[in-house]
Amino acid sequence: MTDLKSLLPEELETFFGAMGESAYRARQVFQWIHEKDVSDFAQMTNLPLPLREKLSRTSLVTAATVERKLVSARDGTVKFLFGFADGEKVESVLMQYKHGNTVCISTQAGCRMGCAFCASTVNGLKRNLEPSEMLEQVQAAQRHTGRTVSNIVLMGIGEPLDNYENVIKFLKLVNHKDGMNIGLRHISLSTCGLVDRIDRLAAEGLPVTLSVSLHAPNDEIRRQIMPIANRYTVDELLDCCRRYEKRTGRRTSFEYALIRGLNDSPACAHELGSRLCGSLCHVNLIPVNEVKGKIYKRSEKVAVELFTKALESYRMTVTVRRSLGGDINASCGQLRAEHS
Ligand code: SAH
Repeated sequence: MTDLKSLLPEELETFFGAMGESAYRARQVFQWIHEKDVSDFAQMTNLPLPLREKLSRTSLVTAATVERKLVSARDGTVKFLFGFADGEKVESVLMQYKHGNTVCISTQAGCRMGCAFCASTVNGLKRNLEPSEMLEQVQAAQRHTGRTVSNIVLMGIGEPLDNYENVIKFLKLVNHKDGMNIGLRHISLSTCGLVDRIDRLAAEGLPVTLSVSLHAPNDEIRRQIMPIANRYTVDELLDCCRRYEKRTGRRTSFEYALIRGLNDSPACAHELGSRLCGSLCHVNLIPVNEVKGKIYKRSEKVAVELFTKALESYRMTVTVRRSLGGDINASCGQLRAEHS
């Protein structure tokens, strides 16, 4: 069975051509799937009945089931547990901001990056998500809340650049003018820092905002919490971010989870500031969300303040991430499909 939701318009046309069907019909189906959010061929009423029957014999349109939906009483954040055809489940989070609704989607079921403070990597990687399964998280979040998604962050479960081809295809699909038409400037991709893949991404002509999970000012601390730091040094990662900026004109955003006693001293802030100084960057501080079974504790409020102040003296934009959905375990690093 071919999953039509993962096909770009030109691929859909080729698929239809091989069935002896016209490009016009392929375009109609693309519109049903992407613009009208219909996955049942029976509802594609402008297609001839024999074509609808042929499609149901040869193909499918991925649709997720809602296994669980939790709404935060604090801030209206909605956390979904979505199920796919093979029984795999992932989480997605819809957040409301003044400027619109942002959906945080998963790119893999599980993760193999092994960051020591993150819940999503505890059971390793189960499998990559298909482009359709990423798109479906965006569509289903809209469908089940009645809210329109304006921004997307690839910051849920998984390492997007470890599922490279499928993520690229997802970006092309969600950005397509005949589809959901969400601008690339409204999409952020978060990575633990796969340098070779960031370089590849820079050459794709898909200028999404890059968020880099740095979490340490030097290799020594970074290696204690992020296995990827044994593959690439902080210097190699920062050089690569500069290349990305040059090529795409997009400002890099660095994520820094503040962990008590590990990376939250003013000395760490100064070391970070002097390394990032001079580039157009934004640092997003995230007091670490405590994860069951992990030893890492969030920094004291005063430590967060001192860290922020020290870093600001290097003239960069520093923000402390507002934690949304904390009461429903929907915050950064708390996502994990417990039911898998
Ligand atoms: N794999 C990607 C995207 C997923 S995580 C990446 O590493 O960037 C999204 C962000 O949440 C990353 O910055 C990640 O390091 C951070 N994160 C993970 N666990 C966390 C925790 N317990 N508290 C705060 N942030 C966490």
